[in-house]
Amino acid sequence: MKALVFHGPGSIAWEDVPDAALVESTDAVVQVDTTTICGTDLHILRGDVPAVTAGRILGHEGVGTVVSVGESVTNHAPGDRVIISCISSCGVCRYCRSQMPSHCLAPEGAPGIGWILGHLIDGTQAELVRVPFADGSLHRLPPAVPDPLAVLLSDILPTGFEIGVQYGQVKPGDSVAVVGAGPVGLAAVATAGLYGAATIVAIDRDLNRLEVAKGLGATVTVDASAADWREQVLAATDADGVDVAIECVGIPQTFTMCTQLVRPGGHLANLGVHGKPVELALQDLWIQNLTITTGLVNATTVPMLLRLVAAGKLPVDAFVTHRFALADIMEAYGTFDDAAQTRALKVLLSR
Ligand code: NAD
Ligand code: ZN
Repeated sequence: MKALVFHGPGSIAWEDVPDAALVESTDAVVQVDTTTICGTDLHILRGDVPAVTAGRILGHEGVGTVVSVGESVTNHAPGDRVIISCISSCGVCRYCRSQMPSHCLAPEGAPGIGWILGHLIDGTQAELVRVPFADGSLHRLPPAVPDPLAVLLSDILPTGFEIGVQYGQVKPGDSVAVVGAGPVGLAAVATAGLYGAATIVAIDRDLNRLEVAKGLGATVTVDASAADWREQVLAATDADGVDVAIECVGIPQTFTMCTQLVRPGGHLANLGVHGKPVELALQDLWIQNLTITTGLVNATTVPMLLRLVAAGKLPVDAFVTHRFALADIMEAYGTFDDAAQTRALKVLLSR
Protein backbone atom coordinates (compact mmCIF):
# COMPACT_ATOMS: atom_id res chain seq x y z
CA MET A 1 0.00 0.00 0.00
CA LYS A 2 0.97 3.67 -0.21
CA ALA A 3 1.31 5.83 2.89
CA LEU A 4 2.67 9.19 4.04
CA VAL A 5 5.84 8.29 5.95
CA PHE A 6 7.65 10.66 8.33
CA HIS A 7 11.42 10.47 7.82
CA GLY A 8 12.45 13.04 10.43
CA PRO A 9 11.96 16.80 10.74
CA GLY A 10 11.21 18.42 7.40
CA SER A 11 10.99 15.11 5.58
CA ILE A 12 7.86 13.19 4.56
CA ALA A 13 7.18 11.02 1.52
CA TRP A 14 4.23 9.23 -0.09
CA GLU A 15 5.70 5.80 -0.64
CA ASP A 16 5.21 2.02 -0.72
CA VAL A 17 5.01 0.28 2.68
CA PRO A 18 3.78 -3.18 3.76
CA ASP A 19 -0.03 -3.44 3.89
CA ALA A 20 -1.62 -2.73 7.28
CA ALA A 21 -2.62 -6.07 8.84
CA LEU A 22 -4.39 -7.46 11.91
CA VAL A 23 -2.00 -8.03 14.84
CA GLU A 24 -4.23 -8.39 17.93
CA SER A 25 -7.65 -10.02 18.09
CA THR A 26 -9.13 -6.61 19.01
CA ASP A 27 -7.83 -4.93 15.81
CA ALA A 28 -9.57 -3.92 12.62
CA VAL A 29 -8.01 -3.02 9.30
CA VAL A 30 -9.79 -0.14 7.61
CA GLN A 31 -9.53 1.11 4.04
CA VAL A 32 -9.10 4.88 4.33
CA ASP A 33 -11.72 6.57 2.13
CA THR A 34 -11.12 10.11 3.41
CA THR A 35 -8.44 11.56 5.67
CA THR A 36 -7.20 15.04 6.42
CA ILE A 37 -4.21 16.96 7.75
CA CYS A 38 -4.15 18.46 11.25
CA GLY A 39 -2.01 21.27 12.66
CA THR A 40 -0.45 18.61 14.88
CA ASP A 41 0.96 16.92 11.75
CA LEU A 42 2.73 20.18 10.92
CA HIS A 43 4.14 20.30 14.49
CA ILE A 44 5.51 16.78 13.94
CA LEU A 45 6.96 17.76 10.57
CA ARG A 46 8.73 20.73 12.15
CA GLY A 47 10.31 18.46 14.75
CA ASP A 48 8.27 19.83 17.69
CA VAL A 49 7.23 16.30 18.72
CA PRO A 50 10.44 14.29 19.23
CA ALA A 51 8.43 11.25 20.38
CA VAL A 52 7.45 10.69 16.75
CA THR A 53 10.37 8.88 15.18
CA ALA A 54 11.36 8.27 11.58
CA GLY A 55 9.41 5.59 9.75
CA ARG A 56 6.03 6.37 11.30
CA ILE A 57 2.93 6.88 9.10
CA LEU A 58 1.20 10.15 10.07
CA GLY A 59 -2.50 11.06 10.42
CA HIS A 60 -5.14 10.63 13.13
CA GLU A 61 -8.37 11.62 11.40
CA GLY A 62 -10.26 9.48 8.93
CA VAL A 63 -13.36 7.86 7.52
CA GLY A 64 -13.16 4.45 5.94
CA THR A 65 -14.55 1.03 5.21
CA VAL A 66 -13.74 -1.93 7.43
CA VAL A 67 -11.74 -4.55 5.52
CA SER A 68 -11.14 -7.14 8.23
CA VAL A 69 -11.62 -7.55 11.99
CA GLY A 70 -9.94 -9.65 14.66
CA GLU A 71 -11.89 -12.44 16.34
CA SER A 72 -12.68 -10.39 19.49
CA VAL A 73 -14.22 -7.46 17.60
CA THR A 74 -17.99 -7.50 18.05
CA ASN A 75 -19.21 -4.02 17.07
CA HIS A 76 -17.86 -3.91 13.52
CA ALA A 77 -17.71 -6.13 10.46
CA PRO A 78 -16.12 -5.96 7.00
CA GLY A 79 -17.97 -3.49 4.79
CA ASP A 80 -19.00 -1.15 7.64
CA ARG A 81 -18.44 2.54 6.94
CA VAL A 82 -16.79 4.06 10.02
CA ILE A 83 -15.27 7.15 11.60
CA ILE A 84 -11.80 6.48 12.99
CA SER A 85 -11.52 8.28 16.34
CA CYS A 86 -8.27 10.15 17.06
CA ILE A 87 -8.22 8.31 20.40
CA SER A 88 -7.65 4.56 20.38
CA SER A 89 -8.76 3.16 23.73
CA CYS A 90 -9.04 -0.25 25.35
CA GLY A 91 -12.34 0.53 27.06
CA VAL A 92 -11.52 -1.36 30.26
CA CYS A 93 -8.63 0.36 32.02
CA ARG A 94 -9.13 2.82 34.85
CA TYR A 95 -8.98 5.87 32.55
CA CYS A 96 -11.21 4.42 29.85
CA ARG A 97 -13.80 3.56 32.50
CA SER A 98 -13.71 7.09 33.88
CA GLN A 99 -14.36 8.81 30.54
CA MET A 100 -10.69 9.73 30.07
CA PRO A 101 -9.65 7.33 27.29
CA SER A 102 -6.99 9.76 26.06
CA HIS A 103 -4.98 8.42 29.02
CA CYS A 104 -5.73 4.77 28.25
CA LEU A 105 -3.17 2.54 29.94
CA ALA A 106 -3.07 -0.08 27.18
CA PRO A 107 0.17 -0.04 25.19
CA GLU A 108 -1.62 0.90 21.98
CA GLY A 109 -4.34 3.04 23.45
CA ALA A 110 -3.70 6.70 23.46
CA PRO A 111 -1.06 6.68 26.18
CA GLY A 112 0.80 9.92 25.92
CA ILE A 113 -1.30 10.49 22.85
CA GLY A 114 0.08 7.48 21.03
CA TRP A 115 -2.41 7.75 18.23
CA ILE A 116 -3.00 11.43 17.94
CA LEU A 117 0.69 12.19 17.82
CA GLY A 118 1.38 9.02 15.90
CA HIS A 119 4.36 7.75 17.86
CA LEU A 120 3.12 4.29 18.80
CA ILE A 121 0.86 3.26 15.97
CA ASP A 122 0.76 4.07 12.29
CA GLY A 123 -1.81 6.62 11.20
CA THR A 124 -4.55 7.31 8.72
CA GLN A 125 -2.67 9.09 5.92
CA ALA A 126 -2.47 5.79 4.09
CA GLU A 127 -4.52 3.51 1.87
CA LEU A 128 -5.10 1.12 4.78
CA VAL A 129 -4.80 1.55 8.55
CA ARG A 130 -4.65 -0.90 11.45
CA VAL A 131 -7.00 0.27 14.23
CA PRO A 132 -6.24 -1.16 17.71
CA PHE A 133 -9.25 -1.71 20.02
CA ALA A 134 -11.61 -1.39 17.07
CA ASP A 135 -14.77 -1.78 19.15
CA GLY A 136 -14.17 1.49 20.96
CA SER A 137 -12.08 3.33 18.39
CA LEU A 138 -14.45 3.13 15.40
CA HIS A 139 -17.95 4.59 15.09
CA ARG A 140 -20.35 3.22 12.48
CA LEU A 141 -21.60 5.91 10.10
CA PRO A 142 -25.15 6.37 8.88
CA PRO A 143 -25.25 6.62 5.05
CA ALA A 144 -26.68 10.15 5.25
CA VAL A 145 -23.49 11.62 6.73
CA PRO A 146 -20.99 12.28 3.92
CA ASP A 147 -17.25 11.80 4.42
CA PRO A 148 -16.39 15.55 4.48
CA LEU A 149 -18.60 16.05 7.55
CA ALA A 150 -17.83 12.71 9.20
CA VAL A 151 -14.07 13.28 9.13
CA LEU A 152 -14.49 16.39 11.30
CA LEU A 153 -15.67 14.08 14.08
CA SER A 154 -12.34 12.26 14.39
CA ASP A 155 -10.68 15.13 16.24
CA ILE A 156 -11.60 18.78 15.73
CA LEU A 157 -15.30 18.80 16.65
CA PRO A 158 -14.82 16.73 19.85
CA THR A 159 -11.78 18.83 20.81
CA GLY A 160 -13.59 22.17 20.48
CA PHE A 161 -16.63 20.75 22.26
CA GLU A 162 -15.04 18.71 25.07
CA ILE A 163 -11.98 20.78 26.01
CA GLY A 164 -13.49 24.15 25.07
CA VAL A 165 -17.25 24.18 25.58
CA GLN A 166 -17.71 21.39 28.15
CA TYR A 167 -14.64 22.14 30.28
CA GLY A 168 -15.62 25.83 30.04
CA GLN A 169 -19.05 24.86 31.43
CA VAL A 170 -20.97 26.98 28.93
CA LYS A 171 -24.55 27.46 30.14
CA PRO A 172 -27.74 28.84 28.57
CA GLY A 173 -27.49 32.58 28.12
CA ASP A 174 -23.70 32.69 28.58
CA SER A 175 -21.31 34.93 26.71
CA VAL A 176 -18.41 32.99 25.20
CA ALA A 177 -15.21 34.38 23.71
CA VAL A 178 -13.25 32.03 21.43
CA VAL A 179 -9.69 33.26 20.92
CA GLY A 180 -8.28 31.73 17.71
CA ALA A 181 -10.53 30.78 14.79
CA GLY A 182 -8.52 27.96 13.27
CA PRO A 183 -10.30 24.65 12.67
CA VAL A 184 -10.38 23.81 16.40
CA GLY A 185 -11.48 27.29 17.51
CA LEU A 186 -14.17 27.18 14.83
CA ALA A 187 -15.26 23.82 16.25
CA ALA A 188 -15.68 25.54 19.65
CA VAL A 189 -17.69 28.31 17.96
CA ALA A 190 -19.87 25.76 16.17
CA THR A 191 -20.58 23.75 19.33
CA ALA A 192 -20.91 26.58 21.91
CA GLY A 193 -24.50 27.04 20.75
CA LEU A 194 -25.35 23.47 21.80
CA TYR A 195 -25.48 24.64 25.42
CA GLY A 196 -27.40 27.78 24.57
CA ALA A 197 -24.69 30.47 24.64
CA ALA A 198 -26.37 33.80 23.94
CA THR A 199 -23.27 35.57 22.59
CA ILE A 200 -20.37 33.87 20.85
CA VAL A 201 -17.44 36.15 20.03
CA ALA A 202 -14.77 34.86 17.66
CA ILE A 203 -11.40 36.64 17.91
CA ASP A 204 -8.59 36.20 15.38
CA ARG A 205 -6.23 38.26 13.25
CA ASP A 206 -7.29 36.40 10.11
CA LEU A 207 -10.34 38.20 8.75
CA ASN A 208 -11.17 35.38 6.35
CA ARG A 209 -11.43 32.94 9.26
CA LEU A 210 -13.63 35.42 11.13
CA GLU A 211 -16.00 35.40 8.14
CA VAL A 212 -16.17 31.60 8.36
CA ALA A 213 -16.84 31.90 12.11
CA LYS A 214 -19.95 34.00 11.39
CA GLY A 215 -21.35 31.20 9.26
CA LEU A 216 -20.70 28.70 12.06
CA GLY A 217 -22.54 30.60 14.78
CA ALA A 218 -20.34 33.50 15.94
CA THR A 219 -22.65 36.38 16.80
CA VAL A 220 -19.76 38.87 16.94
CA THR A 221 -16.27 38.85 15.43
CA VAL A 222 -13.31 40.87 16.62
CA ASP A 223 -9.99 41.49 14.83
CA ALA A 224 -7.29 40.63 17.37
CA SER A 225 -4.94 43.11 15.67
CA ALA A 226 -7.17 46.04 16.60
CA ALA A 227 -5.79 48.16 19.45
CA ASP A 228 -9.21 48.09 21.15
CA TRP A 229 -9.91 44.36 20.72
CA ARG A 230 -10.74 43.97 24.42
CA GLU A 231 -13.11 46.94 24.48
CA GLN A 232 -14.86 45.54 21.41
CA VAL A 233 -15.45 42.18 23.12
CA LEU A 234 -16.69 43.75 26.36
CA ALA A 235 -18.96 46.15 24.43
CA ALA A 236 -20.57 43.12 22.79
CA THR A 237 -20.93 41.15 26.03
CA ASP A 238 -20.62 42.69 29.49
CA ALA A 239 -18.31 45.31 30.92
CA ASP A 240 -17.27 42.80 33.62
CA GLY A 241 -16.09 40.32 31.00
CA VAL A 242 -17.35 37.14 29.38
CA ASP A 243 -18.63 34.07 31.23
CA VAL A 244 -16.33 31.72 29.33
CA ALA A 245 -13.11 32.35 27.37
CA ILE A 246 -11.75 29.51 25.24
CA GLU A 247 -8.07 29.63 24.26
CA CYS A 248 -7.62 27.97 20.84
CA VAL A 249 -4.17 29.08 19.68
CA GLY A 250 -1.52 27.83 22.11
CA ILE A 251 0.73 30.86 22.65
CA PRO A 252 1.30 32.89 25.84
CA GLN A 253 -0.21 36.02 24.29
CA THR A 254 -3.61 34.45 23.63
CA PHE A 255 -3.71 32.80 27.06
CA THR A 256 -3.18 36.26 28.56
CA MET A 257 -5.88 37.67 26.28
CA CYS A 258 -8.27 35.11 27.76
CA THR A 259 -7.38 36.11 31.33
CA GLN A 260 -8.17 39.71 30.34
CA LEU A 261 -11.58 38.76 28.99
CA VAL A 262 -13.15 36.54 31.69
CA ARG A 263 -15.45 38.04 34.29
CA PRO A 264 -14.89 37.33 38.00
CA GLY A 265 -16.04 33.79 38.68
CA GLY A 266 -15.88 32.88 35.00
CA HIS A 267 -14.21 29.98 33.21
CA LEU A 268 -11.06 29.93 31.10
CA ALA A 269 -10.85 26.74 29.04
CA ASN A 270 -7.43 26.35 27.44
CA LEU A 271 -7.33 23.87 24.59
CA GLY A 272 -4.36 25.24 22.65
CA VAL A 273 -1.19 23.15 22.84
CA HIS A 274 1.55 25.42 24.17
CA GLY A 275 5.06 24.97 22.83
CA LYS A 276 6.44 27.55 25.27
CA PRO A 277 5.87 28.14 28.99
CA VAL A 278 2.91 30.34 29.84
CA GLU A 279 3.04 32.80 32.70
CA LEU A 280 0.16 32.23 35.08
CA ALA A 281 -0.11 35.61 36.82
CA LEU A 282 -1.70 34.29 40.01
CA GLN A 283 -0.71 37.49 41.81
CA ASP A 284 -3.35 39.22 39.66
CA LEU A 285 -5.73 36.37 38.97
CA TRP A 286 -6.43 35.10 42.49
CA ILE A 287 -8.91 37.85 43.15
CA GLN A 288 -10.88 36.95 40.02
CA ASN A 289 -12.14 33.58 41.37
CA LEU A 290 -11.52 31.99 37.96
CA THR A 291 -11.73 28.34 37.01
CA ILE A 292 -8.96 27.43 34.56
CA THR A 293 -9.07 24.09 32.76
CA THR A 294 -6.97 22.36 30.14
CA GLY A 295 -6.68 18.91 28.65
CA LEU A 296 -6.29 16.47 25.83
CA VAL A 297 -9.39 15.52 23.85
CA ASN A 298 -11.05 12.25 24.90
CA ALA A 299 -13.39 11.95 21.90
CA THR A 300 -16.07 10.42 24.13
CA THR A 301 -18.69 12.76 22.62
CA VAL A 302 -18.26 11.49 19.04
CA PRO A 303 -21.51 9.43 19.05
CA MET A 304 -23.51 12.41 20.35
CA LEU A 305 -21.92 14.87 17.89
CA LEU A 306 -22.49 12.36 15.08
CA ARG A 307 -26.22 12.24 15.87
CA LEU A 308 -26.35 16.04 15.69
CA VAL A 309 -24.48 16.15 12.38
CA ALA A 310 -26.73 13.40 10.97
CA ALA A 311 -29.82 15.38 12.06
CA GLY A 312 -28.50 18.52 10.35
CA LYS A 313 -28.33 20.31 13.70
CA LEU A 314 -24.62 21.02 13.52
CA PRO A 315 -24.04 22.60 10.11
CA VAL A 316 -20.29 22.33 9.63
CA ASP A 317 -19.89 22.29 5.83
CA ALA A 318 -17.78 25.46 5.91
CA PHE A 319 -14.78 23.67 7.44
CA VAL A 320 -13.72 21.91 4.25
CA THR A 321 -11.93 24.31 1.92
CA HIS A 322 -9.79 22.02 -0.26
CA ARG A 323 -9.99 18.49 -1.65
CA PHE A 324 -7.24 16.33 -3.13
CA ALA A 325 -6.74 12.73 -4.20
CA LEU A 326 -4.94 10.75 -1.50
CA ALA A 327 -2.02 10.25 -3.90
CA ASP A 328 -1.56 14.04 -4.08
CA ILE A 329 -1.03 14.35 -0.32
CA MET A 330 2.37 16.07 -0.69
CA GLU A 331 0.69 18.92 -2.58
CA ALA A 332 -2.07 18.97 0.06
CA TYR A 333 0.53 19.42 2.84
CA GLY A 334 1.86 22.45 0.93
CA THR A 335 -1.62 23.95 0.66
CA PHE A 336 -2.37 23.36 4.35
CA ASP A 337 0.99 24.70 5.50
CA ASP A 338 0.44 27.91 3.51
CA ALA A 339 -3.01 28.62 4.98
CA ALA A 340 -2.47 32.39 5.11
CA GLN A 341 -2.27 32.42 1.30
CA THR A 342 -4.49 29.47 0.39
CA ARG A 343 -7.18 30.15 3.05
CA ALA A 344 -7.11 26.46 3.89
CA LEU A 345 -9.07 25.22 6.91
CA LYS A 346 -9.56 21.49 6.45
CA VAL A 347 -7.85 19.92 3.46
CA LEU A 348 -9.48 16.61 2.54
CA LEU A 349 -7.80 13.64 0.89
CA SER A 350 -9.95 10.95 -0.67
CA ARG A 351 -9.17 7.70 -2.44
P1 NAD B 1 -4.45 26.87 13.77
O1 NAD B 1 -3.02 27.21 13.86
O2 NAD B 1 -5.03 26.51 12.43
O3 NAD B 1 -5.33 28.10 14.30
C1 NAD B 1 -4.87 29.04 15.21
C2 NAD B 1 -5.58 30.36 14.93
O4 NAD B 1 -5.10 31.31 15.87
C3 NAD B 1 -5.28 30.92 13.53
O5 NAD B 1 -6.50 31.20 12.87
C4 NAD B 1 -4.47 32.19 13.83
O6 NAD B 1 -4.73 33.24 12.89
C5 NAD B 1 -4.96 32.56 15.21
N1 NAD B 1 -4.03 33.40 15.98
C6 NAD B 1 -2.68 33.33 16.01
N2 NAD B 1 -2.20 34.29 16.81
C7 NAD B 1 -3.27 34.96 17.31
C8 NAD B 1 -3.42 36.07 18.18
N3 NAD B 1 -2.35 36.68 18.73
N4 NAD B 1 -4.66 36.50 18.47
C9 NAD B 1 -5.74 35.90 17.93
N5 NAD B 1 -5.66 34.85 17.07
C10 NAD B 1 -4.43 34.40 16.78
O7 NAD B 1 -4.70 25.73 14.83
P2 NAD B 1 -5.92 24.69 15.04
O8 NAD B 1 -5.70 23.50 14.18
O9 NAD B 1 -7.22 25.40 14.98
O10 NAD B 1 -5.61 24.24 16.54
C11 NAD B 1 -5.72 25.19 17.60
C12 NAD B 1 -4.96 24.68 18.82
O11 NAD B 1 -5.61 23.53 19.34
C13 NAD B 1 -3.52 24.26 18.53
O12 NAD B 1 -2.68 24.70 19.57
C14 NAD B 1 -3.62 22.75 18.53
O13 NAD B 1 -2.38 22.14 18.81
C15 NAD B 1 -4.63 22.56 19.63
N6 NAD B 1 -5.27 21.23 19.73
C16 NAD B 1 -5.51 20.78 20.99
C17 NAD B 1 -6.10 19.55 21.18
C18 NAD B 1 -6.37 19.07 22.55
O14 NAD B 1 -6.66 17.89 22.73
N7 NAD B 1 -6.33 19.92 23.56
C19 NAD B 1 -6.47 18.76 20.08
C20 NAD B 1 -6.24 19.25 18.79
C21 NAD B 1 -5.64 20.50 18.62
ZN1 ZN C 1 -7.95 2.05 28.41
